[in-house]
Amino acid sequence: MAAAEELFEFYKKVRIGCCDCRDCSDCCQGMGNSIILDPFDFYKLEKGLFVTPAKLLESYASLNVNDGLILPNLRMSGGKEQCVFLNEEGRCSIHGFRPGLCRLFPLGRDYKDGKLAYFILEGACSGPGERTKVKIEDWIGEASIEKYQGFLIDWHYYLRGIKEKTAALPDEAWESAVKAASVNILEKFYLTPYDCQKNFYDQFYERLESVASERASVAASEEVKLC
Ligand code: SF4
Ligand code: SF4
Repeated sequence: MAAAEELFEFYKKVRIGCCDCRDCSDCCQGMGNSIILDPFDFYKLEKGLFVTPAKLLESYASLNVNDGLILPNLRMSGGKEQCVFLNEEGRCSIHGFRPGLCRLFPLGRDYKDGKLAYFILEGACSGPGERTKVKIEDWIGEASIEKYQGFLIDWHYYLRGIKEKTAALPDEAWESAVKAASVNILEKFYLTPYDCQKNFYDQFYERLESVASERASVAASEEVKLC
């Protein structure tokens, strides 16, 4: 993010309203691997599509290296590189449970000092007409913005901690460490099915605590070995 970009908190109104994306689906095509899916996206897609996470990964997502880890992203397909969920009318067929980055566009997220703020990706939305003012919270449209943001922050810093550790490794060890860390993340947070009848956040934090205690016991056993 450029340093000069203005940051906003979720209760602020910003000029991004685009008349329900009338006649436009530009941000649903040609996006490459950039629409990265987080565990909450997987939970909602599993629930909305009635599919297993393995099926989700096989049919609707792709795995790619992104910012130092291998993570799933929404799949684009065909000559126009369209999102697999874009229907023939040029509308999103999973609008009610579309991923977080789709809900966010054309906003970006900025994480700093354990907090999350938003900025406008100037010029990114190509839809026609004047932009109207919309409250960021309403634009994102999640039931509990505080809980959702809390999850995003914890997920961001969890991944960031892993990336920092692998980035500090010598080149010859980096690739295998990234692969091992990514496989672990995929198994723990994506491919182990969520109970869609239960609250996502409780299940996510159980998993996060379990990986934290696994890491603590590995660190403790390494210390014992060093003694
Ligand atoms: S999931 Fe929906 S909103 Fe997101 S890129 Fe695909 S069609 Fe567009
Ligand atoms: S580019 Fe803007 S107007 Fe077009 S689909 Fe995306 S958000 Fe809607």
